[in-house]
Amino acid sequence: MLDEKFELSFYVPGDDNCYTYGRIGVLNVVLSPLSETNIAKTTIVATVATSMRRTFARLKLILLLGAAGAIPNDVHDMRLGDAVIAVPSDGSSGIVQYSFPETEVIRELASPPQSILDCVRQFQFELQDDPEKITKWMEEGLNKFPHMKRTFGPPSNRVDRLFHADYLHISQGCYRCDSSRLVQRGSRADTNPRLFYGAIATADTEIFNAKERDKIGRQTNCLCVDTGSAGLQLIEVPTIVIRCIINYADSHSKEQRKWRDYAAMTGAACAKGFILDLSTVSWDMDPSEHSVDSAERLWTSTTAKTTIAATQFTTSQGTPTNTAGRTTPTGSTWSLVDMNPSVASTGTF
Ligand SMILES: [Zn+2]
Repeated sequence: MLDEKFELSFYVPGDDNCYTYGRIGVLNVVLSPLSETNIAKTTIVATVATSMRRTFARLKLILLLGAAGAIPNDVHDMRLGDAVIAVPSDGSSGIVQYSFPETEVIRELASPPQSILDCVRQFQFELQDDPEKITKWMEEGLNKFPHMKRTFGPPSNRVDRLFHADYLHISQGCYRCDSSRLVQRGSRADTNPRLFYGAIATADTEIFNAKERDKIGRQTNCLCVDTGSAGLQLIEVPTIVIRCIINYADSHSKEQRKWRDYAAMTGAACAKGFILDLSTVSWDMDPSEHSVDSAERLWTSTTAKTTIAATQFTTSQGTPTNTAGRTTPTGSTWSLVDMNPSVASTGTF
């Protein structure tokens, strides 16, 4: 999803994140994947975001991208491969943390600042005007890397099963699951994935139980359930969460694996589109950062899989050199001026 990848490498003591650097539109981007371990996802997100925040001291925004299970309701016709961007909704801040298995609301995370919400709104209008835009961004990415089409393209049969909440999974592949217990949903006029806007529920444990899923839905009016977003609660920079829908958080969920990679691609495309729109955001910056020589660049991050992103304004302090000895893109006179001086002074950046 990067428009350009920068061949940079440096080590910051105490920061175990694995960063990839690049550019989306006019904004510089840094990506860090979230590891798949037995540690609670909330802890992983908090650890990665905290390290990122510490390393990039002038971070302005963190974007968290990953998977979620849809909470079906009568208002939003959400399908596998769609995506949700967390914004305040129905009196909620946008991210509601609940306990599991009690399924009780613990707290709500702070909302993104209005400038970011305005950008989400702009993004929403943009997609309303051109519903194929997400598909175009996905195709752009896959055309750059054709070998990824098989993995991240749409599932060949596009089978998207939503069973009634009281019907439990029977057999592998849902082949023996009773199709008469499927929720009757009309087919869509097109195959473009859609982006929904509203609150998401988050916990440390994935839900594979439709009744518990629906209970959370009734309590919170959330659009989907994820794991990990609560890890952003103590991060002292604005955050935004984008979730791609990979299942319906029910007992049949593990049979929907074919959608996982495609949904990841949808989420990444939405993140890219959103980052492109971020260039119009008016940030509250220190006046000294507005000098003519300053390169007001955002650092942000996103990957096709569960990922975290960060943005940072940087000022002109000379042109860094990458590990291959070439200078980084001309015109982007950025550097990590707030990095550990001992690292910056090595010249390896
Ligand atoms: Zn099933």
